[in-house]
Amino acid sequence: MAVSGVVRMVWGEAFMAYRLSDDHPLQPLRVKLTVERIRELGLDAFAETVEPRLASEEEIGLCHSPGYIDVVRRLSAADGHRRVPMADMAEAGFASPDNPVAPGMHEACAAIVGGSVMAAEAVHGGAALHAFNPAGGLHHAMRERASGFCVYNDIAVAAAWLRAPGHRVACVDVDVHHGDGTQALFYADPEVLTISLHESGRYLFPGTGFPDETGAGAARGASANLPLAPFMWDEPWLAAFEAVVPPLLRRFRPTVLVTQDGCDTHALDPLAHLQASTAIWPRIGRHFHELAHELCEGRWVACGGGGYAIREVVPRAWTLLFAEMVEHPELAAELVDAEPFPPEAEARERVWAFLERDLRGLAGALQVPLRL
Ligand SMILES: [Zn+2]
Repeated sequence: MAVSGVVRMVWGEAFMAYRLSDDHPLQPLRVKLTVERIRELGLDAFAETVEPRLASEEEIGLCHSPGYIDVVRRLSAADGHRRVPMADMAEAGFASPDNPVAPGMHEACAAIVGGSVMAAEAVHGGAALHAFNPAGGLHHAMRERASGFCVYNDIAVAAAWLRAPGHRVACVDVDVHHGDGTQALFYADPEVLTISLHESGRYLFPGTGFPDETGAGAARGASANLPLAPFMWDEPWLAAFEAVVPPLLRRFRPTVLVTQDGCDTHALDPLAHLQASTAIWPRIGRHFHELAHELCEGRWVACGGGGYAIREVVPRAWTLLFAEMVEHPELAAELVDAEPFPPEAEARERVWAFLERDLRGLAGALQVPLRL
């Protein structure tokens, strides 16, 4: 199908402040390198780039409690450690090396949330059909707790912001880690569908995201999870995506698509055990783009997410995604890995068997036919 439209990208130096420590795996440099690669290839000429603004407390409050925001604010000060009792700090998720207390983290994360809200505003108001916030995708943050490198959940705030004027929102999360925060925030909301494809929680943080997590009450069926086996490479990953995402989106009929595009599924990623290549990214981008046009009149908010091979993978994966968004995949074709990374034969069989079993489990849990 023909796809066209105005694209917006949110980018500014404010995103570089989300740096939780010197040796933290989530370095904002990966976002800067992505934007540089997009510009080197001339892809930014087909989009409008806008500076992020800070999300207001009211906007952050769409998904986080006032008490939690207050703790983050106090910890954000230069002497933040001394401003919050240890027990409160631990309860808010700041007692783990994943989420160290970082000066300025409130403002830094408010800029990321602001970027995702701006992306939502643009596609809702019609200023753009598609909008990309490469710094976004902080999907582990919970209502009252930081988790998994995430302080505020920008994806969930954007989805909640879109809910207010009456959208039916589909959040699709392809990060190698389960989108647990986003799922939890909308677990009882039938107007928000969350779909997450991720390495199984048996082997990887956060340990959740099984097919029987389908939503609560009236939202039963509005949460979908497909766990994936370690060593999964391009062919079964794409088969899994194609078996789950298009049919569930067509059944739900969203009016806006919000995607978390973590690229830590790659074989070179140091934090997980899948073996995808960058060849999945043009396919992911094309699917999201076509589904947004088919179901949502084009409305598509894309965010970044995980991805810890900062130089080798992240800029290539997200530039390939963006190239599909602006409909110039040919300009980024050189960023596709020359060869996929399939494991040896025995592991390949295990991966397919695991996928068939969990896809059956998901189809049964949702009572929807889903086939490879
Ligand atoms: Zn991740």
